[in-house]
Amino acid sequence: MSAPVLVVGGGIGGLTAALCLAKEGIQVVLLEQADDFHQVGAGIQLSPNCSRVLHHLGLEDALRVRGFLPEGTQFRDYRSGRVISESVLGRSAMERYGAPYYHIHRGDLLTTLVEAVETSADIERHLGQRIVDLNLRPDRVDIISTSGAKFTGRALIGADGIHSSVRSSLWGETAPDFTGNVAWRALVPVARLPEGMVRPMSTAWWGPHKHFVHYYVRGGELVNCVCVVEKEGWTVESWTERGQYDELKSDFQGWHEEIQTLIDAADRDSLYKWALFDRPPMSQWSQGRATLLGDACHPTLPFMAQGAAMAIEDGAVLAACLKVESEVPEALARYESLRLKRTAGVQTGSRRNAKVFHLTGVKAWARNRAARRAGGHTMDRLFRYDALTSVDA
Ligand code: FAD
Repeated sequence: MSAPVLVVGGGIGGLTAALCLAKEGIQVVLLEQADDFHQVGAGIQLSPNCSRVLHHLGLEDALRVRGFLPEGTQFRDYRSGRVISESVLGRSAMERYGAPYYHIHRGDLLTTLVEAVETSADIERHLGQRIVDLNLRPDRVDIISTSGAKFTGRALIGADGIHSSVRSSLWGETAPDFTGNVAWRALVPVARLPEGMVRPMSTAWWGPHKHFVHYYVRGGELVNCVCVVEKEGWTVESWTERGQYDELKSDFQGWHEEIQTLIDAADRDSLYKWALFDRPPMSQWSQGRATLLGDACHPTLPFMAQGAAMAIEDGAVLAACLKVESEVPEALARYESLRLKRTAGVQTGSRRNAKVFHLTGVKAWARNRAARRAGGHTMDRLFRYDALTSVDA
């Protein structure tokens, strides 16, 4: 039996990669620094380009039970509430893309992935192992954790997030960039809202220097809100940093009454804020038998809701490359060449949206006009991508 593939990081990217590799019959050793698998933050949107991969892994039933199927997406004006543009998802997304668009609580997505990992005989799991060192050899990779434990594999996948230590070991230590945006997150129990106020859609309200996104999670019991504000001087990057109601309220003063209702009805214990960081696209991820995946190599602002989607696609492409190429370095080089351009495009597109969503005055007016003309299908090419067929045998 050949040596396993080492996957460092048990977030959405690492867990999905482990499942994709196991599905190809590849043995995996999965290492996570925390004492359990968990996700901080509330909701996440899963577009067809990544739900296609999750369905391929056999997770469709669980996602249908735990997720929420939105009817569409819409952009609205922050003050008047006028709908600027709208696109249809729901059944038509299924017909158009062959896979649905889900909204789901991050904890529910993690549970779904972890349950699948735990039932796989091909995935060996190690919790509480923070990897701090690696040694690349011609025929294998050795990695070492803080506890001194050593693991050996034929390939190493660094899926260890924006502060990736695998990335630092391969390419040197560099700090991520603060983007000048702070994201609030809030959960609102639907029972506290006027009936029918929140449509079953992903809604983004655009205003000067801010935007506010909301959508249903947990089968429609909760509304997840992500509220982004341009702010300087506060750069705590943590989903567990509590935010104060008064500050959120004042950040969105003067916004539409539905926004006020959502903020007022939010569960006060669910208010958190997070300074948003990213990095410019890398020109290379892999060295010999080691590569990177997900936020470790392409951390992405949430303004296209594609960061996790890219990590999920990465896992499918990586597994297919390791399956069809007999030599690991060739497989990793092929994976990287198939993924670099697409992920860099999403990183820069998300950065662009950070500016576009927050425009003011005549530029905002021109943006709204262009959005109306585009008719809501600007993500079409992105959603059609099929990671499962992107590698020819
Ligand atoms: P992470 O989730 O960071 O996981 C890394 C894992 O590695 C963690 O479990 C960590 O504990 C572990 N680890 C770290 N270092 C080590 C080490 N040295 N040894 C062992 N383990 C280690 N994306 C979407 O697709 N749709 C959305 O709607 C969306 N919304 C978002 C909203 C916000 C506000 C933000 C901030 C992001 C959003 N994203 C979204 C992006 C998405 O959350 C990330 O891209 C995704 O979670 C990255 O997953 P990952 O597995 O690559 O990294």
